[in-house]
Amino acid sequence: MSDVLTLLQRHHCMSRIRGKNTTPEILVRKGLHARGFRFRLHNKKLPGSPDIVLPKYGVAIMVNGCFWHGHKGCRYATEPKTNIEFWETKIARNRHRDEVTTAHLEALGWTVITIWECELRNSSQLDDRLDALAEEIRYAGEVKRIRDINKQQSGAAARREREALLRKQAELEAEINQLYPIPKRIRTISRAFDGDE
Ligand SMILES: [Zn+2]
Repeated sequence: MSDVLTLLQRHHCMSRIRGKNTTPEILVRKGLHARGFRFRLHNKKLPGSPDIVLPKYGVAIMVNGCFWHGHKGCRYATEPKTNIEFWETKIARNRHRDEVTTAHLEALGWTVITIWECELRNSSQLDDRLDALAEEIRYAGEVKRIRDINKQQSGAAARREREALLRKQAELEAEINQLYPIPKRIRTISRAFDGDE
């Protein structure tokens, strides 16, 4: 293995400096579009201007390059062996910014889904990941609907609707569990609603 970043890696790193329309992002956009989702891109009104936003589902998606965003434990995020301090500082800063941005979005009620470049690297993996993403989005959408009902309504009708949604949510959860583990923060949100009774 070379002790310097290859030209390609370097080009890739540079292209990810808050890069827009990167290949992984385009793959996710195409995949979502093919699955019937409509979305907005790079919404500057939201913290971190998330790459893809689905307001109907309350979902913000970040598509992260593994090297640039310092994907932990990922073989594509290997530490460079030259200019170590420079890259470590940059990557640590990006990672911190990602954490703050995610926390900020979640505080505003958004479900944040991070897609890593390495999850999209081969075509069979890509389809599985996009199918799982579609389920995660639908699930987040159900959580959002329940929350909206809780905010707006009370009484027996709202309660029945909420119970139906919770059943739907449980079905979706079971489906997602087969496809892909549910992100911890979504489980947390779900539990919070369960505890409302
Ligand atoms: Zn990765």
